[in-house]
Amino acid sequence: MLDSDDGPPPPFPARILFETYEVGRLLGFGAFAKVYHARHTRSGHNVAIKVISKAKALRGNLFGNIKREIAAMRRLHHPHIVRLLEVFASRSTIYFVMEYAKGGELFTRLASSGRLPEDQSRRLFNQLISAVAFCHSRGVFHRDLKPENLLLDESNNLKLSDFGLSAIKSGDLGGEGLLHTLCGTPAYVAPEILLKIGYDGAKVDIWSCGIILFVMNAGYLPFNDSNLMGMYRKISRGGYRCPRWTSPELRQLISRLLDTNPATRITVEGILGDPWFRKGMDVEKVRRLMRFREDIEDRIAKIESGVSDEWDEERDLSAFDIISMSGGFNLSGFFNPAAAARERFLVEGRVDQVLDRMEKVSKEEGLWVRRWRRGEKGRGGAAVEGRMGTLVAWLEVFRLSPEFLVVEVESGTGEEAGRFNPQFWRESLTSRVRESAALPVAPTASKT
Ligand code: ATP
Repeated sequence: MLDSDDGPPPPFPARILFETYEVGRLLGFGAFAKVYHARHTRSGHNVAIKVISKAKALRGNLFGNIKREIAAMRRLHHPHIVRLLEVFASRSTIYFVMEYAKGGELFTRLASSGRLPEDQSRRLFNQLISAVAFCHSRGVFHRDLKPENLLLDESNNLKLSDFGLSAIKSGDLGGEGLLHTLCGTPAYVAPEILLKIGYDGAKVDIWSCGIILFVMNAGYLPFNDSNLMGMYRKISRGGYRCPRWTSPELRQLISRLLDTNPATRITVEGILGDPWFRKGMDVEKVRRLMRFREDIEDRIAKIESGVSDEWDEERDLSAFDIISMSGGFNLSGFFNPAAAARERFLVEGRVDQVLDRMEKVSKEEGLWVRRWRRGEKGRGGAAVEGRMGTLVAWLEVFRLSPEFLVVEVESGTGEEAGRFNPQFWRESLTSRVRESAALPVAPTASKT
């Protein structure tokens, strides 16, 4: 059944779509798409379905945008990004089935309330930065950030949407690594886009975040003019005035975001360190959200809670194994065929020391590390992510003897995994550790 407050029937070809979704009211529309509320008939879950006419898309030369939107959204699983659940197509229409953001557009909220108190702006800006930084870490630049594309869920949490103008690294770059496509919405466009000399996708998104923050606080745009050229002139000069109620700390942050020089404009790291941004916020949580990776987090949660059977394997190594490993011969698959894709080696010390070393090496290489511990047995590990946001290695450390630990490395799948292979970790982690010949071997070594 459709909601009784659905209003007049929507101009929609069928009420039940693909025998799976019961389509309800129109939620909104953009230049080329209509978005409807729908309910998954079996589970009762609410979804939003974006309906795009193929003929219109063809006329508007939009297939590139549609492909980009699908490619970008597929890569992005984050609590503050609208999740793409399915894509269907009929002969005439394309359907995106998405997570439903019940609270609607932030724009509507601003239009009705005028402006937001600073603590509410801070909370939403915090979520926005976590989503934008996450996109960037996965090589996706949104390029059309504005309150109309920021949706809210039922708890007023922000959900970034509309990746139709997004760029994915390597797809749209000139030889110097800069983007060249002119895009965005005039009032939110960064000055360097207007110069048409190529731009850094991350920096233009940060500029738009500055405009959004200004609008949330002021209730109006920082650069506005009835004439488009007049608006562009104001953007290029960077001349704006904060309202009198803006706190000095917020003025400072806005000035760093709306810096017309992209080279000196504040970065995500800078924002995370900003006093206004940090006030009352758990910045570690924001960092974690930026790096949010559901599969890694799931795996870690299962291990830490003891649900996973990964740790139930018998990891008892014999002295024979120790000799084999210490001689550099990888016998990983020999004593645990299931772990044949993993490589193991020995190091001395405590689990925490090895994890510290792993973290230090990773940071020096620009990699990100998500550490975990399985307390009672002195086991720990880390998921290591590359600069493009893919898993480059999964490392586990566990105690073998009072002196020795085993490090187990499972290679990741991303492009950078080749360079950060088990050999790399073996060299980085054992360089300062007594190895091979010096290993004490128990008398039972005569297993052969
Ligand atoms: P544009 O012309 O700005 O590119 P579009 O045609 O790509 O727009 P969207 O901006 O994605 O369409 O969606 C249009 C409107 O539909 C949104 O502004 C919003 O009001 C509503 N909407 C979109 N996605 C959702 C969602 N997941 N949940 C709830 N409402 C949504």
